[in-house]
Amino acid sequence: MADDKNKNNRKWNVNLNNENPDKRRTTAYYLLMALSVLMFLNYFVLPSYMNRSVEEVTYSTFLNQVSTGDVSEVKLEETQITFVATDDAGDKQVYITGLIDDPTLVTRLEEADVTFSKDIPTEASPILSILVSWVLPLLLFWGLGSLLGKQMAKRMGGGAGGALSFGKSNAKVYVKAGDSKTFKDVAGQDEAKEALSEVVDYLHQPKKYQDIGAKNPKGILLVGPPGTGKTLLARAVAGEADVPFFSISGSEFVEMFVGRGAAKVRDLFKEANEKAPCIVFIDEIDTIGKKRDNGSFGGGNDEREQTLNQLLAEMDGFEANKGIILLAATNRPESLDAALLRPGRFDRRVPVELPDLAGREAILKVHATNYKMDPSINYNTIARATSGASGAELANIINEGGLRAVREGRNAVTQSDLEESVETVIAGYQRKNAVISPKEKEIVSYHEIGHALVAAKQTESAPVHKITIIPRTSGALGYTMQIEEGEKSLMTKQELFNKIVTLAGGRAAEEIVFGSITTGASNDIEQMTRMARAMITRYGMSDTFDMMQIETQTNKYLGGDTSMNVSAGMAEQVDREVLDIIKQAHEKAIAILNENSEKLHELSHHLLVEETITGAEFMKILGE
Ligand code: ADP
Ligand code: MG
Ligand code: ZN
Repeated sequence: MADDKNKNNRKWNVNLNNENPDKRRTTAYYLLMALSVLMFLNYFVLPSYMNRSVEEVTYSTFLNQVSTGDVSEVKLEETQITFVATDDAGDKQVYITGLIDDPTLVTRLEEADVTFSKDIPTEASPILSILVSWVLPLLLFWGLGSLLGKQMAKRMGGGAGGALSFGKSNAKVYVKAGDSKTFKDVAGQDEAKEALSEVVDYLHQPKKYQDIGAKNPKGILLVGPPGTGKTLLARAVAGEADVPFFSISGSEFVEMFVGRGAAKVRDLFKEANEKAPCIVFIDEIDTIGKKRDNGSFGGGNDEREQTLNQLLAEMDGFEANKGIILLAATNRPESLDAALLRPGRFDRRVPVELPDLAGREAILKVHATNYKMDPSINYNTIARATSGASGAELANIINEGGLRAVREGRNAVTQSDLEESVETVIAGYQRKNAVISPKEKEIVSYHEIGHALVAAKQTESAPVHKITIIPRTSGALGYTMQIEEGEKSLMTKQELFNKIVTLAGGRAAEEIVFGSITTGASNDIEQMTRMARAMITRYGMSDTFDMMQIETQTNKYLGGDTSMNVSAGMAEQVDREVLDIIKQAHEKAIAILNENSEKLHELSHHLLVEETITGAEFMKILGE
């Protein structure tokens, strides 16, 4: 990857806060703390500890004891009299009593033949005593206080600087970072790269644009699901553009104290203004840019709102041709405040979608360059098996393959390592030595062959690539991998229905063969219900509802939450339709398996013995 020997690639990763943890200072703090503990002991704990055996008596008791001859020794101190006397039990005991201006005392003591003395008043200089009793404790408290303050500031994410640097931005400036990324590191995403290279070009030669009168876009929003390379793209822009690059994550603006986040925004833009032309990148902007909801309980989050307002104000404040370009990334564009998306703010959106087949292959290859790979690896096969995987997941697959190769003692990553890690990443680790009863294994075999057979016997369904009954840690006891032959963006109603039938195939096989059913189909049930529901509520695939949108997807990328748009009566009708589709699919699956029950048994026995069979083997036994 990065070439360490290249001198020009010196890493310039400057932190604006100049935060450098000074070890010596920390030691000093520890010393201070130790000292203060000692002083505390000295002033408050030890004296009372030593006085524990000292009994306080009245002055008259003292005089009484002197006259009875019990007192053997007396010490006249500045504020009290300490004396030793024999108590009732005959033991010597230390007593104290208050000092009274008593001129007869000396005569009495002499008469009773008591040795007595007076303390010489401490000759300590007043300066020293003031120092010890006032200045030192104050110093200690100050030291402790600032130490605590620092730690608190750190914990609150405010970074360093302690109490004095509240509101400093944490933006990091990358000026040609040594490990900087370029567009070459971003595979696929051609449209996004094109949109961003225009920005890079503008920063390189602004005059070309200014001559025509074209203004550069102020704000560009990278939008897409997690792991698709938004952050990577932004870093690549930094690597391509020869200008300072300020990068900060939205969550770093979220502060405990109202107004602090806003101050950070101000600080960031002040800094950017000084360094212009430059790029300011706000990652995960949704953390500060969320819709401001008015009547929420407790007045909502004042802090976030102030931060957002400050950001909006700053965006309006800078001139478009001053050369500050704002980049931001989010995976929840729908949650952003409309004000952020108005013209003149983040008015340009760059979609960063999940990679298609070619994109996946390219991403796999980009990451493979960092590993020792077997030259015979067919990345296309892996790409085909990972439909729907994000760039981050694909990078993970390569890495898992590398780990597996090491585990197996190979010196290069092979095709099977990658195939294995596809399953690892997508379906959890294999639990080879998990204990499963033979009966359970048989059920799982039939279940998986049920899926595979139903898939194979339907037209327009993806061919089976691999069937296995080796359980994964994800909880699945078996796994039937189907691989689409091409890249699919559209699905017909028939294809969707066939998929649901295939999902029903597992349970159907259990019913036919064992006459009983297990919990093993729960994931299938979840998937087929979701698909059947989407057919009716979002894809307009039912006769009853025609092209009416019944559900709105409120969060396209994360989780895919939906909200219903129809009345309760209609919702009931929707449920009936969903149930209809599922019932039809279930019946069709049973019919297919009944027609092919011989093959069902043959294949299941084969799988039970082999534990894993490939698509080719499967088709051979099927005789097709
Ligand atoms: P996002 O910010 O969109 O959630 P990231 O940029 O953090 O995603 O991507 C995470 C990792 O996934 C990257 O560091 C990179 O290793 C890998 N990755 C994602 N997309 C791509 C891509 N298009 N090309 C190469 N690697 C990618
Ligand atoms: Mg990111
Ligand atoms: Zn299943």
